[in-house]
Amino acid sequence: MADYLISGGTGYVPEDGLSAQQLFSIGDGLTYNDFLILPGFIDFTSDEVDLTSALTKKITLKAPLISSPMDTVTESAMAIAMALMGGIGFIHHNCTPEFQANEVRKVKVCWHYHVIINPVIKKKKNLISTHVTQRFEQGFITDPVVMSPHQTVGDVLEAKVRHGFSGIPVTETGKMGGKLVGIVTSRDIDFLSEKDHTKPLAEAMTKREELVVAPAGVTLKEANDILQRSKKGKLPIVNDNDELVAIIARTDLKKNRDYPLASKDSRKQLLCGAAIGTRDDDKYRLDLLVQAGVDVVVLDSSQGNSVFQINMINYIKQKFPELQVVGGNVVTAAQAKNLIDAGVDALRVGMGCGSICITQEVMACGRPQGTSVYKVAEYARRFGVPVIADGGIQTVGHVVKALSLGASTIMMGSLLAATTEAPGEYFFSDGVRLKKYRGMGSLDAMEKSTSSQKRYFSEGDAVKVAQGVSGSVQDKGSIHKFVPYLIAGIQHGCQDIGAKSLSVLRSMMYSGELKFEKRTMSAQVEGGVHGLHSYEKRLY
Ligand code: IMP
Repeated sequence: MADYLISGGTGYVPEDGLSAQQLFSIGDGLTYNDFLILPGFIDFTSDEVDLTSALTKKITLKAPLISSPMDTVTESAMAIAMALMGGIGFIHHNCTPEFQANEVRKVKVCWHYHVIINPVIKKKKNLISTHVTQRFEQGFITDPVVMSPHQTVGDVLEAKVRHGFSGIPVTETGKMGGKLVGIVTSRDIDFLSEKDHTKPLAEAMTKREELVVAPAGVTLKEANDILQRSKKGKLPIVNDNDELVAIIARTDLKKNRDYPLASKDSRKQLLCGAAIGTRDDDKYRLDLLVQAGVDVVVLDSSQGNSVFQINMINYIKQKFPELQVVGGNVVTAAQAKNLIDAGVDALRVGMGCGSICITQEVMACGRPQGTSVYKVAEYARRFGVPVIADGGIQTVGHVVKALSLGASTIMMGSLLAATTEAPGEYFFSDGVRLKKYRGMGSLDAMEKSTSSQKRYFSEGDAVKVAQGVSGSVQDKGSIHKFVPYLIAGIQHGCQDIGAKSLSVLRSMMYSGELKFEKRTMSAQVEGGVHGLHSYEKRLY
């Protein structure tokens, strides 16, 4: 074996461990538990580790974490929480197309309502036009609610009741681009009596002379500093003619501070994925999802290398060329090839490794997940197609291992089940607080609707053969605590390896610098807690 020189050190160090290529050339299928990564050199802190990674060819996430499209894992509450923390959720399709599209819509418009009260329309038709935009802003809001001085205190109260915010800029025209004449805040109207509701804002607002404003062209950072110094809720940005061009809201600054990794589209709405099947009636489902603003769809099949999936990819790419499509599931390069040729934007990898899965036992097909991820990722990277390692993730160490084998992101079911944000109610069994978690190929799930039957059965099958089980998982609390633990854990793992980012981790692996070692059964026992009479395992 070749030796190599550690720069400026005491001499040669013998080569140690196996490259990924060597590890997987042995021929055995390996699970995440069958190997370890040898530690590297640390010259950075763990919080410096950058976890940015590609979900698909066109979508990048700041945290490589995905919630699985399962009916006990991902509906809108989970998808919102995952996106806020830098990952993404895929809404399941074991429901009507209308229900699923509505869940996607909830994610896309979460906190995103601004009302533009147009005085002319209102006067003429007694109508309020509702304009849906996003409030989860990175910075300047360019289309806020604006009112005119002729509108009334009642109009402001109505906007506040419907949309829960105050601090509305007032311009001569009642629109953006009009001359700024004031701001109306809660403090201006809180103690007014009912007879004052018809009072024009000109009399109730805080006037222009008393306002702190910032000039157009100010940087976001300068504007933030002014807002913080002024202790106001809103900072209007005006041009040389004193016309309103944008505002900054303290609440938005706070959200950005609380969720700096949030996954957002170009309109700053949270990212959302959804699952569909490959049948003709899934085309209707797809239409509704696209109308709801879905960013990415996954074709949900346990064996994705099929003519049905290839046809569906072609159909989607023709009808919605901008929509990102994840194909799968696959576990070999040969399966991946067909889907890559058809034009998928990412591949979902895993067959038979899920915690609720009995596919390998029943169908005799599948592959240990470590090998699947390495083999597919190693092939797909040549075509710039990212890989999602789906299923079998039991610990944060498994996440690090999946990423170190070439996966760009990882998808979780059981790890996220029984969190507050997972669908379903908690129940108690023997004093333990639980939520239901079931495979989409379990008889239980398939009895609910036909969607999951399509994932696991051929049309016209007279006898159903279950590929999953139905069970329960212990209460894990909120995703808002659990995902930060996962993120910090991945960062610590990368630090021990000596990789300051996920792209460095991948290039270390492909160059052979990253070293692995197989684990014997006794090595696995040694690596777990052992020899104690009793212990408590608290992770975060
Ligand atoms: P987990 O994270 O180990 O619980 O695995 C979740 C993954 O298992 C999902 O993302 C699916 O790919 C897969 N899966 C879901 N339902 C079933 C099933 O009924 N049988 C087999 N695999 C399933």
